Amino acid sequence: MTLSARILDEYDRCQRRYAFSQKYDSRLISPLGVLYEAVESALVSDDPEETAKHATMEAAASHQLILSDLNSFMTIRHTGFLAGIIALALRERLGPLIRVESTSDWESSLFETESGTRHRIELVSHFDDDRLRSAAHSWRVIGELVALEAPLTLTAVVIGPQRGGRRHSEWSKGLMHPQNRALRFAPRQHKAAGLTAGWTKVWREQESVPTARWLAQMRQDAVLDQLIVSREIMYRETDARMVAAKREMAILAAEMQEAAKQYHPMRRSSCDEFGGCPFQAICYSPNGQRPEDFPGLYSIRASESTPRTGKHSAGARTLHPIHSP
Ligand code: SF4
Repeated sequence: MTLSARILDEYDRCQRRYAFSQKYDSRLISPLGVLYEAVESALVSDDPEETAKHATMEAAASHQLILSDLNSFMTIRHTGFLAGIIALALRERLGPLIRVESTSDWESSLFETESGTRHRIELVSHFDDDRLRSAAHSWRVIGELVALEAPLTLTAVVIGPQRGGRRHSEWSKGLMHPQNRALRFAPRQHKAAGLTAGWTKVWREQESVPTARWLAQMRQDAVLDQLIVSREIMYRETDARMVAAKREMAILAAEMQEAAKQYHPMRRSSCDEFGGCPFQAICYSPNGQRPEDFPGLYSIRASESTPRTGKHSAGARTLHPIHSP
């Protein structure tokens, strides 16, 4: 069985979701899922910004967004612009990237620089000590360390909280001078630098500001370094935590084979994590409906005999991934 961080994470959170995802493809996707799809496609492209926008439209056109508000067009446009500028900033910082090759046992989600540094890219609403600890303990980091037997760099991109279908951060939101249309950002340390109440709040996707100019201003106003944060995570083969994780991955892989065939109780604390589980229509159905009753949302996987693995398996592109926000 080919393992991946995504599949371990999914199994950890809800065995019922894992079992569903082995049998059904879901057409539902969260805005965060679209953002990951777009950024990850763009990182390995020669034209990151355009690729990000195209990948956003492609994911949105073929899926239904999980949204609490109804303006999906605004969210899709916002997400495309956000993915484009993030991909561009990451490429400027890290240089050309390639995906780390998968093996028959492990499907990696890491990206490698020309100098050989491997990055796990996390899109997070905020970054603090708790968030760092949570990422460092996750399968997304531990699984990759153990499977590839090599250190990695955790690179967190702060995208801000989601409200009203948009992510609120300097990637998307700035202040514009009403007369000369100068762009500024207003981190606290710059409040004394002459930003008066007359400056207007603007969204990037609604202004004709070139992406390069927006990024340059973010750099000048010293907000970029707070929005992309990297931490190296070392690997030591004899570390007891690595030894235990390796052993437990093998145990979990064996359990999963059986779990896909069984009935599992709901794990309610997992249903609304990370943009919402795509199988809520089933678990919260008042009439006890099954996935087959929602042909517009779920389709039976082409080959149930080929369990879905990680994100990049050929023919099994994961469009409702579990991602941490
Ligand atoms: S909706 Fe909740 S209980 Fe149902 S599969 Fe998803 S996470 Fe599990």
